[in-house]
Amino acid sequence: MQELSQSKIVCPQCAGENDIPPDGRFLECTFCGSAIYIDKSKVVNRFVIASNFSEEQAEGNLRRWMAGNFQVKDLDKNSVISAKYFYYFPLWYFKASDRGADKIYLQPATSTSVSEIKNVQIPAGSMKPFSKKEFNPAQFVNPDVLYDNARNWLEQTGVTRESVAESSLVHIPFYQFYYAFGGKQYTAMVEASSGMVYANLWPAKSEIPFRMLFGLSIATFLIVSVLSFVIGFAVGGRGYNPLLLGEIVKIFGYGAASVPLVIIAYFVAKKV
Ligand SMILES: [Zn+2]
Repeated sequence: MQELSQSKIVCPQCAGENDIPPDGRFLECTFCGSAIYIDKSKVVNRFVIASNFSEEQAEGNLRRWMAGNFQVKDLDKNSVISAKYFYYFPLWYFKASDRGADKIYLQPATSTSVSEIKNVQIPAGSMKPFSKKEFNPAQFVNPDVLYDNARNWLEQTGVTRESVAESSLVHIPFYQFYYAFGGKQYTAMVEASSGMVYANLWPAKSEIPFRMLFGLSIATFLIVSVLSFVIGFAVGGRGYNPLLLGEIVKIFGYGAASVPLVIIAYFVAKKV
């Protein structure tokens, strides 16, 4: 960890001493040009992952995700996108060595409802140092989760402090979409370097038709059982055991009743 003197900070890249800017936490090293982020407890390099997707391409990925089998039928056709934003989301990046192999861990550096974000894959060699010439600072979300807090979360998942060899602040490009479906608002994010879709909440397949089908099955089998014994007793008078006859009729009755139920279940699953 860096020792901070009153007004100087040491560049993590070249060890050059820089003045702390009065107005903020972001700084460009005057010696080597590295982008630096200053936290209360830590000075780190600041990196950016480049965006590879246009807004149209990102929306195309979202529509394909909506059309997927796990989503509500016609989600892609019936949802209306109400807003879309592009921004670089800040993540704490920790490189830890686990028995000689490097492992990357990410923690959101600002609050988000989409917790899946920490599962983003950062391709090796894709981290570029931030520069004002190359990127528009207005598109960057400022971090508000401190390094120590992110580190504590990491520790709770079993990654020890000693094993962390490298820490940085990484900004990852996202398109965030807001969409309405069935009178409710949802949000989904498309990671703009890989095109992956991230969402925590989306319109769920309705359970009501499945519950109705379950009720229908119980009622059907109950009726078949009663009818079987009615038949058993009606026929049983002529020398047959009425209970045994009822059981035999029931086996055939269950078999016959399950055919339409299976067909209904198939169509319910397809329609919902
Ligand atoms: Zn430097």
